[in-house]
Amino acid sequence: MPVSDPVRMRAMARRDAPQSVADLAFHEAGHAVVGCVIGQQVTRVSIKARKDSYGRSEYDQPQRDKWRQPSLREVKRYVVPLLAGLKAQEIRRRGGDSRWLRQSREWIEAEWTLGFKVKNEANRVLKHLWAATGRLLKRRWTAVEQVAAELERVGEVEGSFVRDLIVGGVRE
Ligand SMILES: [Zn+2]
Repeated sequence: MPVSDPVRMRAMARRDAPQSVADLAFHEAGHAVVGCVIGQQVTRVSIKARKDSYGRSEYDQPQRDKWRQPSLREVKRYVVPLLAGLKAQEIRRRGGDSRWLRQSREWIEAEWTLGFKVKNEANRVLKHLWAATGRLLKRRWTAVEQVAAELERVGEVEGSFVRDLIVGGVRE
């Protein structure tokens, strides 16, 4: 299905609505921490609701030549932080029913993005990236918890807050 279809996107976004403020905070913290770990410039993380989203993580995206096919490496660098929000929620919920996952907008976007690049291999690559995202998050889980706690407290944090936690080395 086309991910650019705004009506379908809104319907899907409702289905994967976060269960609580904490759930949303961990989701956004997951995006931000993994984005930071793989070297993206995270500028701001927020759980303040907007009309079109529950929360968001903002990045300075490098400008890419849109006529050139992205490499598999570039696609992975996009998909891993994309999956990190859902993965952080799953880790926090400690498994349980995972049907919500497969129906969520970001999961479908990851499937679609990989399908475009690796076609029949998409499911295998997605499974691999999902596991890799989990390992990245678990290694930085203390940072995820700290970002989530700060988001719950003040609603929004600067990218530098996340970066300092990563660079400063969270002792685990
Ligand atoms: Zn998200």
